[in-house]
Amino acid sequence: MAAPPSGVNLALLDKLVAALSAKGLVTEAEITERQAITDRASPEIGARMVARAWTDPDYYALLMRDGKAAAEAAGASMAGAPELGVLENTPSQHHLVVCTLCSCYPRALLGYPPGWYKSFAYRSRAVREPRAVLAEWGTQIPDDMEIRVVDSTADYRWMVLPMRPAGTEGWSVEKLASIITRDALVGVALPRVAGSD
Ligand code: FE
Repeated sequence: MAAPPSGVNLALLDKLVAALSAKGLVTEAEITERQAITDRASPEIGARMVARAWTDPDYYALLMRDGKAAAEAAGASMAGAPELGVLENTPSQHHLVVCTLCSCYPRALLGYPPGWYKSFAYRSRAVREPRAVLAEWGTQIPDDMEIRVVDSTADYRWMVLPMRPAGTEGWSVEKLASIITRDALVGVALPRVAGSD
């Protein structure tokens, strides 16, 4: 659990914002707008995008070609946001998203990153021993499935497109979206059908 920011850190932040403002690089209004976009974002938007991609081939094609456009089509405000790449899980490859340097995360789409995503333990261990980290989440990746760890950066954010689980044939987009969690959208969990295991 992250500690609340200290007075020293808040004072440093104020100085940084003042310096960036003085150089004309950012305005208070832009910061406020960016915070408002993150406040409006939610993993439910990503879940709807995945559910739609599972059921609509045209939307799937858009999602894989242009993540930002697909997010805008799902109601996210992506203006000024970094590029959004989508990593498709397959029977032979699982994707795990991490920001090894800090906490880059598709905030415009999924909202604020969870505390563990920003932790030093996750950022270092996800790269060194992804299979063990996933197992601690209860996410068992078969030994013959490659795990590809992808670094989220200031310029490029990533979201995972999980595989559609068996037993969801005929489900509506809404019902499909209900099993896609925030954690599944960065690859630490898999969508689960209740009673399937
Ligand atoms: Fe980062």
